[in-house]
Amino acid sequence: MTESILYLAHTDESGTALPKAVFETLGGALELAKQLGAPLDIGLIGENVQFAADLLANAGARRVLGVAGADFAKPRFASDAAAAEAVCRATSPSLILAPGTSRFSRALPSLAQRLHGQVDTHITSVEAQEGKISATRWFYRQRLEGVLERDVRPWILLLDSGCHEPWSGAPGCGQWGKVAVALPPEAMRTTVMGIRAPKTDAQTIRPDSGLLFVAGAGWTKKQPDGKAHPEKAESLILDFLHASGASLGGSKSLVDQSGENQAVLGFMTHMNQVGQTGYTPRHPKGLSTCCHGEEPHVVGWRFINERRAINLDPNCGWARGKADVLYVADAFQVMEKVNTLLATSVAASK
Ligand SMILES: Cc1cc2nc3c(=O)[nH]c(=O)nc-3n(C[C@H](O)[C@H](O)[C@H](O)COP(=O)(O)OP(=O)(O)OC[C@H]3O[C@@H](n4cnc5c(N)ncnc54)[C@H](O)[C@@H]3O)c2cc1C
Repeated sequence: MTESILYLAHTDESGTALPKAVFETLGGALELAKQLGAPLDIGLIGENVQFAADLLANAGARRVLGVAGADFAKPRFASDAAAAEAVCRATSPSLILAPGTSRFSRALPSLAQRLHGQVDTHITSVEAQEGKISATRWFYRQRLEGVLERDVRPWILLLDSGCHEPWSGAPGCGQWGKVAVALPPEAMRTTVMGIRAPKTDAQTIRPDSGLLFVAGAGWTKKQPDGKAHPEKAESLILDFLHASGASLGGSKSLVDQSGENQAVLGFMTHMNQVGQTGYTPRHPKGLSTCCHGEEPHVVGWRFINERRAINLDPNCGWARGKADVLYVADAFQVMEKVNTLLATSVAASK
C-alpha cells in the first residue's frame, strides 16, 4: 500500500506558540515518513498560523496547509473537527498523526467517522518495518503494552506526549496554503468564554517538569518531638515546588487523608496519587519524601529514570533496590536545607 502522511497541529491557548507535544509528535511523524519513504504534509489550525508555519518551515514537509481565523482560535469540538476534516479532504492522507492534546483528543476521533477511517489514541510509538506499520499503547495501567496494526485507511493516531524526541530545526519563512472552511451556524453554537483553572500556585501537576517530587503520609505523622507538623510540612513542600518547578505526586495514604477532610496538605488531591491505583508519570528524576516505597506505590515510578528517597527508616521499601539513592534522614530538616540552598542560588542568579 502506498502511504501518505498528514501531520496535524494546532496553536496553544495564547495563539502565539505551539504546544511542546507538537514538536514531539512531528519528530515521530517524520521518522515514520522516512521509514515508509512516504510524503508528509502538515496541517495547521489556529487563529493565526503563519508563526507556526515559520517554526516548522524546515521540517521537510511536502506542503503545509492551514485553517486560520478567529473561529479557530479556541478549542471547540465542532470547529476543530470541521477544520481537520477540511485539511484531510484537501490532502487525502492514508495516515493522520497528531499530538494527543486535550483539544485534539476531543475533536479528532470524530474524523474516523467522517472519513470512514479508524482512530487510536494514547499511542506511545509508531514505526514501519518492511512497509508494515505498527503502533504501541499501554493497557491496564501501563502493565500491558499492546501493538496495533490496521488495514483500514485513513488511520488516525493521537500520540501521547513525552514519548518521542521533539523535532528541532531553524525557523524559516513558512509558505502555506489556506484551506477555506465555512462553518455552519450549528458548528458555532458553543462559545468558549474562557478557561477556569486553579490558581497557578495550586497547579501542582506539571507533566513537563524535569523532577517529580513525591510526598508520603510521613509528612503528617507524629515526629520525633511527639507532635505532627502539617503546617510546616505544607510550607516546606510548597516552597520547594515553587522554587524548583517540580511536579507533585503523593502516596495513596497521604491523598486519602486529604480526601477525608483532615487538616493536612490542602493542595494534595487524588489527582496527585502515584502508583498502582494512581498514575504513572514520566519525569527524568524523582524524589520521594516521607513515603515508605511499598510496591503498589513504586509501580507508578516505572518511567522515572533516576530515583532518590528520603526516609527515617533505613529498612523502608526504597532501600530494597527501588531507589538509586536513599538518604536516611529527616525530610523536614533536609527539605528546609534544600529550600535555603535553592533560595540562595535563585538570589545569586538575579
Ligand atoms: C490494591 C492496592 C493498591 C494500592 N495502590 C496504591 C497507589 O496507587 N499508590 C500508593 O501510594 N499506594 C497504594 N497502595 C497503598 C500502599 O501499599 C501503601 O499503603 C502506601 O503507599 C503507603 O503510603 P506512605 O508510604 O505514604 O505511608 P506510610 O506507609 O505510613 O509511610 C510513611 C513513611 O514516612 C516515613 N517518615 C515519617 N516521618 C519522616 C520524616 N520526618 N522524614 C523522613 N521520613 C519520614 C516513615 O519512616 C514511613 O516510611 C495500594 C495498596 C493496595 C492494597
